[in-house]
Amino acid sequence: AKEKGKNNYQVFNSEMKTISLKRLTMENELRKALLQNELILHYQPQMDIVSGNIVGFEALIRWRHPERGMVSPMDFIPFAEESGLIVPIGEWVLREACRQNKLWQNLGYPHLPVSVNISTRQFLQPNLCAQVAEVLESTGLDPSYLELEITESSTMDVDYAIGVLLELKELGIKISIDDFGTGYSSLSYLKRFPIDKLKIDQSFVRDIMTDPNDAAIVASIIAMTRHMNLKVIAEGVETEEQLGFLHLNNCNEIQGYFFSRPLAAEQLEMMLMNHQQA
Ligand code: C2E
Ligand code: CA
Ligand code: CA
Ligand code: CA
Repeated sequence: AKEKGKNNYQVFNSEMKTISLKRLTMENELRKALLQNELILHYQPQMDIVSGNIVGFEALIRWRHPERGMVSPMDFIPFAEESGLIVPIGEWVLREACRQNKLWQNLGYPHLPVSVNISTRQFLQPNLCAQVAEVLESTGLDPSYLELEITESSTMDVDYAIGVLLELKELGIKISIDDFGTGYSSLSYLKRFPIDKLKIDQSFVRDIMTDPNDAAIVASIIAMTRHMNLKVIAEGVETEEQLGFLHLNNCNEIQGYFFSRPLAAEQLEMMLMNHQQA
């Protein structure tokens, strides 16, 4: 038994080494990616349910890896968060999204807000607000065309979060709570947050037509936002039936494959060009 225990320990140890080596490699590669312009943004349109108009788009990062091809954020954002690289990456995303949106406005495309994901580590940086102000200033984007998506985990320290959010709102930008319903959420605190919109997490939307619990949760979140004067958007809408349910329950906006996948900048341009705004 003693012998076996020792072996197990060694196996565990070498697995640990493999994992940390992987981590180190990933970290170095990601650092290089940032410097060598391997990171790009795709944009997923958001649609008003009633009018069918595009009302905004979310910036979603991708890594164009020289050997591995397009890498999903799911496969590198966790590493970036752990290593702290999310801070410079997040700053790049913010700047790039604002630069691109301002460029589209200058080119005569419809003026629409761009949503940018802010990770918890980034949210807790003491200079976040100054950074957002500087990016708006240097890109020339009007603050009303920028929305930041934060998650419930960024609001764990309620008083700190309220302070940051008030400062951000002061700049004239919009705030939404992403993946709503999946994290710690205290409705009494939610009331105190100066936010504009809730994004209903796609895990609830997925089974809306088959799971009465999910249907009830989604309907309740929508009803609640109405009482709180918040806007609401449903994520991960893939079918016409889901859209119908959301429409019936007075959801404002949808984002999902049913309307469009996330698009490269040039593809979104084509969509904006062909899209008649009512
Ligand atoms: P998220 O913020 O919840 O973004 C929505 C994700 O759902 C995106 O995945 C999008 O492509 C996907 N999606 C949209 N519509 C549908 C649908 O109808 N069905 C399904 N199954 N999926 C749909 P993506 O682009 O792979 O991003 C995954 C996550 O990575 C994001 O989740 C976000 O948490 C993170 N992420 C992406 N870009 C950034 C970024 O610039 N900064 C930070 N901090 N995180 C990012
Ligand atoms: Ca998001
Ligand atoms: Ca989300
Ligand atoms: Ca998510």
